[in-house]
Amino acid sequence: MATPLDRLIHALAKLPGVGHKSATRLAFHLVRAPRNDVDELAAAVRGIKEGLQFCEECLVPSQTPRCAICDDLRRDRHQICVVEEPADLHAIEKSGAYHGLYHILHGALSPLDGIGPDALKVQELLARLQNSAVHEVILATNATVEGEATASYVANMLRVFEMSVTRLAGGLPVGAEVEYVDARTLALALEERRAL
Ligand SMILES: [Zn+2]
Repeated sequence: MATPLDRLIHALAKLPGVGHKSATRLAFHLVRAPRNDVDELAAAVRGIKEGLQFCEECLVPSQTPRCAICDDLRRDRHQICVVEEPADLHAIEKSGAYHGLYHILHGALSPLDGIGPDALKVQELLARLQNSAVHEVILATNATVEGEATASYVANMLRVFEMSVTRLAGGLPVGAEVEYVDARTLALALEERRAL
């Protein structure tokens, strides 16, 4: 039987960027932490799945049927920025360089991991674009192999629409993940986006 400590270490080690060593360190930190802090963390973890839904338009996790961005009438409805994950949306929002709408693909193409086009929210994007006011789709997937493959795939699917399709450019280094790119570089990459 695994002890509660073993179970916690095992669970923490599954998180992205947390190896066994960090998981052990975090677990021992929690052993020493005040009861209140641990309860608060446990409640926050549990709460994340309760009442969780996705914005019916852009598919970002949202407490309401439509997220604050999609509901904001000041946002430019002629642009949709396509990203892999919600964290990418937050990074782009932080750059302050973008004022349009978003679409979350919820992943990137990765044949080796068995992630094909059907696993991504591409059909939802195409449905959104039908009879829409959108003039431009900005493909802001990561500069990784998976991100580039995803951008090409989506760009291909968008050929049937008469709209401009662009890709982040500028200072984005090869292999860069949007989520971790600093706000200034991201703002520049958005400004200097290139047509596909
Ligand atoms: Zn939304």
